[in-house]
Amino acid sequence: MKEDNTIRLAAILPESLVNGIGIRRVLFAQGCPHNCKGCFSPHTHSYTDGELLNMDKIIEDIRNNPLLKGVTFSGGEPWEQADKFAYIAKEVKKFGLNVWCYTGYTFEYILEHQYHRQGWNELLSYVDILVDGKFEEAKKDSSLRFRGSSNQRIIDVQGSLEVMKAVALDVNK
Ligand code: SF4
Repeated sequence: MKEDNTIRLAAILPESLVNGIGIRRVLFAQGCPHNCKGCFSPHTHSYTDGELLNMDKIIEDIRNNPLLKGVTFSGGEPWEQADKFAYIAKEVKKFGLNVWCYTGYTFEYILEHQYHRQGWNELLSYVDILVDGKFEEAKKDSSLRFRGSSNQRIIDVQGSLEVMKAVALDVNK
């Protein structure tokens, strides 16, 4: 158990089919620094709103749903609480679940700053798929699966770490 075992979330979606492949529990981080024009969830920007929730309870609830194929971290910006999300990711992977994570940062930015920001290196080691980059209104495309604008990429994180560059998946095929 972690000493401070709370995480600040805007919401939890118990079962979703649209935030990654398969039935997924979605945790929406509260707090975001990016201010993307046209953001679909401005209520998640404040770092004091939302609710502080017990991470071990969140993990237990995930473990108790046999239908789940994975867990998705969305936002808000999950990487602002990377140590907390790393703790959850580490535990749910023990149940055989995969982890998707949305972020307004690019994969390259995270790679470059992974040793300077709390929990980034750890979270990077547990995320399977990263949907990266800010939402860009001019590149909005509602035909894209799992992402809002065409600049965003669906990245195989562990494959990318092996070659130290972003390996993007085409899930529209
Ligand atoms: S990263 Fe997401 S939550 Fe944050 S401003 Fe951009 S679209 Fe909104």
